[in-house]
Amino acid sequence: MMKKIKIFDTTLRDGEQSPGCSMTIEQKVKIAKKLDEMGVDVIEAGFAASNNRDYEAIVKISKVVKNATVVSLARCNKKDIDKAYEAIKYAKHPKIHTFIATSDIHLINKLHMSKEQVIQRVKECVSYAKEKCHEIEFSLEDATRSDKDFACQVIDTAIESGATTINIPDTVGYITPCEFIELIDYLKKHSRLKEVEISVHCHNDLGLATANSLAAIKTGATQIECTVNGIGERAGNTAMEEVVASIKTRKDYFNASTNIETKEIKTISKMVVEATGSIVQNNKAIVGANAFKHEAGIHQAGVINNSLTYEVMNPKDYGIYEDNIVIGIHSGKNAIIDKIKKLGKNVSSYDIDSIVIEIKQFFEYNSNFSDEDFINILNNHKIKILSY
Ligand SMILES: [Zn+2]
Repeated sequence: MMKKIKIFDTTLRDGEQSPGCSMTIEQKVKIAKKLDEMGVDVIEAGFAASNNRDYEAIVKISKVVKNATVVSLARCNKKDIDKAYEAIKYAKHPKIHTFIATSDIHLINKLHMSKEQVIQRVKECVSYAKEKCHEIEFSLEDATRSDKDFACQVIDTAIESGATTINIPDTVGYITPCEFIELIDYLKKHSRLKEVEISVHCHNDLGLATANSLAAIKTGATQIECTVNGIGERAGNTAMEEVVASIKTRKDYFNASTNIETKEIKTISKMVVEATGSIVQNNKAIVGANAFKHEAGIHQAGVINNSLTYEVMNPKDYGIYEDNIVIGIHSGKNAIIDKIKKLGKNVSSYDIDSIVIEIKQFFEYNSNFSDEDFINILNNHKIKILSY
């Protein structure tokens, strides 16, 4: 049977934590509504205890979201958990997401706590959160650099105390895909992890966030934490559009699907760019300006006949409707003919060979080529019809 993979979007929490990406309450509410409409399963709306604006935004989002679960992040302490619940209690489906670091480096340098103290804290805080809210996600911060057996103890403690989802984050973007599978397999074998929902949260420091998240699906993760356009701390988080498109394109391999209406992906991507000012690189998978564009003549000839020649996805499935054939110095006859047809003109009225030559000459001196430039060149090469 096809597995359902839940999409946990943290654009409004982890995404917003990236430098220069802060959003107003209104922008956050607008984005949350769109995420809800397009089928995101869980929206991490913010970190209630961190500041008043986050708190206010979570309250507002909790009140407007119709289908998705609304989550607030909370450190493993009662004050944070109180504040998180206060903010999400208006939601139809509220969830508290609490976390504590489990790696030695974090325990020594940040928390100044022993392993025993961490276990005790997890027990106290998860049980406390459970009294308020049925749905609890617990994260082992820096899980991928933690001692595996200690991680197992923490997971068992969180589950015994009421956690319904366990998140295994690659907080610093350190692990590689095969290792991540091995780690999750180990945790499943030596703890009660299998009894709850398994979530992963990957960072992109080595450019592996999407690959690691997809690897985790193969070993039983059913929730992927991600952000629109992959924004997030440092090199960012797993990009929602990449995970969703991979699962859709390769459902033969993953035997899985998501609830996301992919046609809304381009729209949400633009909304996040507008709200954060964080632009998307041209060659970014799925949502980059060039993600579905072809300029090379050989590629163009193939794509014009059958788009599957050089495309594994249909751009329209992701809300991208613009012309994907770009006229450039590498373009050949097929692209020129295609372009003339798209402009509603009669191909037989033009001398195509001389148009190809003039376009190549144009690019010796220019880099931008507009429709107007194209029409000017066409007009220079009209075939003169002789009349008798
Ligand atoms: Zn993160």
